[in-house]
This record gives sequence, C-alpha cells and structure tokens, in this order.
Amino acid sequence: MNCVRCDYLLWDLPECRCPECGTGFEVTDYSFARQSVHFICPHCGQSYLGTDERGLPQPSRFSCVNCHQGIDTTRMAVRPIVEGARGEPLRYGTPWQDRSRVGIVPGFVDAVARLAIDPDEYFRRASAKRNDGAIFFSVLCAYVAAAVFLGVMLLFHRAGLAGWAPDVSVLLRWPGILGLILAVPAIHVAWTYLYGLLIQAVLWGLGVGRCEFDSSVRAVALGAAVLPAVLLFPPVGLVWYLIVVCSGLEHFHDTTRGKALTAAAIPMLIAGNAGLFLFLSLGLN
Ligand SMILES: [Zn+2]
Ligand SMILES: [Zn+2]
Repeated sequence: MNCVRCDYLLWDLPECRCPECGTGFEVTDYSFARQSVHFICPHCGQSYLGTDERGLPQPSRFSCVNCHQGIDTTRMAVRPIVEGARGEPLRYGTPWQDRSRVGIVPGFVDAVARLAIDPDEYFRRASAKRNDGAIFFSVLCAYVAAAVFLGVMLLFHRAGLAGWAPDVSVLLRWPGILGLILAVPAIHVAWTYLYGLLIQAVLWGLGVGRCEFDSSVRAVALGAAVLPAVLLFPPVGLVWYLIVVCSGLEHFHDTTRGKALTAAAIPMLIAGNAGLFLFLSLGLN
C-alpha cells in the first residue's frame, strides 16, 4: 500500500495522509488480498479482517465490537499480517489522466474546475512521471476560452457597445471560422512551448537541478484551465494563470514556491514589456 504520488509505504498510520509528501488518501482507494491485512479501529485498536471482494471490511460503516464507537472504513489504519501483503491503488491520478475511465467530457470539466480552484491538490495527484496528454487538454482549454471570449464580445457588440467591443462576427463565418479553428491551437501551442522554454531558462539560472523541459511545458499547458479568465479579465486572469503555472512548477520540479514563482513570473514580465513596447511603438507611428 504505497502513496500514489511518492511511493511511500502507508501501513499503520494514525491519519490517512502520506507522512512523506502530504497527499491525502482513503483506505477504500485500495484493494487487498483477503486475510492479508488487519484494519484497525481508530478509537481502541481493535483489529478487523476485510471480507468484501476488494478485501475491505463490510459494511463500510459499523460500530466497533470492542469500544462501540462508530468506524468509517475509509479512515482505518491498515496493518499487514502476512509476508508480502500489499494494497493495489484503484483510484489515483487526476480526472484528466483518468479520462478513459470517467469519460472525456466529465474528466475535462472536473480537471478544469480542480485546477482553477485548488491547483496544489491537483498537481499533488498528478504524478510527475506520468504523461497525461497535457497539450491536448491545453488546446481544448484554448478553444473553450476563444469561444467564451467571442461569445461575450458578440453579446457586447449586439448590446450596442460597438466602440468598446470589436465586431467579431466575421470570425464566425466561413472562411474566418476556418482560420480561427487553425490559429487557436497554433498560437496556443507555440506560446506554451515558448513560455516553457523561458521558464526553463530562468530555472537553469536559479540553479534548480534536474528540471525537465517536458515538465515545465506540462505545467504551462495545465495552466490553460484558467484561460477564459485571462482573455476576459486579464488583471485577475493573469495572476490566476501565474498561480496555477507556479503550483505546477513547484510540484513537477520539486522546488520551492519562491523559485517556482520567479520562474513563472519573469517570462510573463518580459512578455508584458515586449507587448507594451510593441503597442507604444505602433501607437507612435
Ligand atoms: Zn506520499
Ligand atoms: Zn474500537
């Protein structure tokens, strides 16, 4: 019975949290060979054998025969009683990594929500070694963001705010829409790799060892979950994007929050300045 993130052995713990990396788990996330482990009452230490087909105690909630307090199976400590006893993890990884099991749309929606709300928890569950189709996820996010952005612009335009919102309807008609369908992933993927490359350069400058380029790109790609906010309301969206990317870098590269934030923020500042410079020089001409 090992931690799904760091592989630490989770036998006989007072709390269902990995002492090594802090990842929370539930005993029912694992299955056990029958008669190979004891499940321990958290109140009095009374031991129980698992009886169901996954080797877990039945029912999942019951009163202890010794101390008569209520027990929730998900939170019992597990103690091996035979040589070579093991717990097989059933549920691990992120909703996006598990999309073949949970379905691509629910997996995508769940992953976006989790990344936006609690990126630390998301990246804790995302094994650094597991390739999870982050670029595919990222491109889907870019399409969603573009659709939301264009939809809002269209609404504003129709509401008579023509001076403020550009007329985007030409992009939604043939052949504009074809350009849009091709340009969104092209620009987005180019940005993802460029940003990943710049992050890698800063990390290298900071002396962070063994950081793989792929992991930096993955952190940037998963940050795309908050792209709609970036497009619609950049002051908040960009900070949010930075927080998610920073969290990904911190977990994938096993580095400090300070270094991750520096690595995520410096390329943004450079891009921001370049953008401002371009804007001003175009404005002056
Ligand atoms: Zn762990
Ligand atoms: Zn008890």
